[in-house]
Amino acid sequence: MALRFFNTYSRKIEEFEPRDPTAQPISIYTCGPTVYSRAHIGNFRAYIFEDLLQRHLELRGYKVHRVMNITDVDDKTIRGAREAKVPLAKFTEPFKKAFFEDADTLRIKRADEFPAATDPRYVERMIAMIGELIARDLAYQADDKSVYFRINKFPDYGKLAHFDLKQLQSTGRVKHDEYDKEHIGDFALWKAWDDEDGNVKWDSPWGPGRPGWHIECSAMATALLGDQIDIHCGGVDNIFPHHEAEIAQSEGVTGKKFVRYWLHCAHLLVDGQKMAKSLGNFYTVPDVLAKGYSGRELRYALLRVHYRVPLNFTWEGMKEARESLGRIDEWLQRLNEVTKKENAQRSTPNSQHPTQQFEGGLDDDLNISAALGFLFESIRETNRAMDENKLDAASAKAWLDWWKRINSVVDLEPETEIAVPSEVAQLAKERENARHQKNWTQSDELRDRISALGWEVRDTKEGQKLTPRGAA
Ligand SMILES: [Zn+2]
Repeated sequence: MALRFFNTYSRKIEEFEPRDPTAQPISIYTCGPTVYSRAHIGNFRAYIFEDLLQRHLELRGYKVHRVMNITDVDDKTIRGAREAKVPLAKFTEPFKKAFFEDADTLRIKRADEFPAATDPRYVERMIAMIGELIARDLAYQADDKSVYFRINKFPDYGKLAHFDLKQLQSTGRVKHDEYDKEHIGDFALWKAWDDEDGNVKWDSPWGPGRPGWHIECSAMATALLGDQIDIHCGGVDNIFPHHEAEIAQSEGVTGKKFVRYWLHCAHLLVDGQKMAKSLGNFYTVPDVLAKGYSGRELRYALLRVHYRVPLNFTWEGMKEARESLGRIDEWLQRLNEVTKKENAQRSTPNSQHPTQQFEGGLDDDLNISAALGFLFESIRETNRAMDENKLDAASAKAWLDWWKRINSVVDLEPETEIAVPSEVAQLAKERENARHQKNWTQSDELRDRISALGWEVRDTKEGQKLTPRGAA
């Protein structure tokens, strides 16, 4: 069955066809965190959806190149730094760190690249793109010295959000800070420096200032993934104006269709309400951990609802997540026990592995609820077979293999408690140094010594991974 996604641009379910079917990897751009505070669980719901998307594409044989940007300069970060009376980079640093910590807690696979908006390479590109847009009459510098995109010159503006430009027409009551714009919907590409920006500024042909949020993403996306991207994701609140603006800027410069598939994740509610600090229902990952839940349990709670359906987060739901995972753990344990029984009663392998149903569910616009439904149905059936001693060791092994495959997508494997012995950890550390110095001979020797102690070392993007040899 072919993969299908709901494309926000067309408002239709479309079959997934990469831009160039012969070229791998496919490219995905996902709007990342704005590092002015710790990301909340609603943000992580979107990141988990993107994680699921990447992992399922990989299961389906695609190689994926994913970029997630870090917004480390915008109105909110500047305000935060000013209030904390520290330089911008110092202000954003702990929030960047917290983002990666929380993402690891939730087992979110890291993107291949995390470009930061303040990286001089990208600022340079933002300035170049703005210059190009001015040259094409798609942008102008207003009297307030800021540069704006001229939306009237881009007929497709509004197509992603599906609304008419006329809805944005000025009613005559224009806010003070929008006074200089030609059209109320024109958005800032370059914001002229003012006192409130302190020393946050870059030089540009239009005077000192800083880039607008939207151009940051256009510049980083096209710099790292090229003019055309297969899939672009974000939360529904990114659709307008952010993604609409990204299209206008990128296509305004390149003249090519920027994105083939736009996928957007619905909101997260808490107890049926919008999450807000003022309502006391605003949670970060550490807030949930402090209540005694694990990252794995929170991952499950945020993963289990289809991404286009609003997810209602409740503590009751967290309890259910714990129970569901308990059922998986118990099932895996029972299957493991059965594989060890050599003389288990032979049975006809009655249980059809629901591989097709599980993966087919995900093929259908990442329908995780359907996929998990199949998983739990299979658990019920195999448990019944085990109750009646009708599952043989080979079938149990086949079920465990099946689990391994689907776990590469859902990543809900129970935490293993096996601690790495200090001797092994020391050798692994030496090996890391050896690899750093490109001393491959020494690295291989150390691998053998680690292996002799019963541990296997794998090199992954995240670094070395140690697993006890022979462990499932
Ligand atoms: Zn973005």
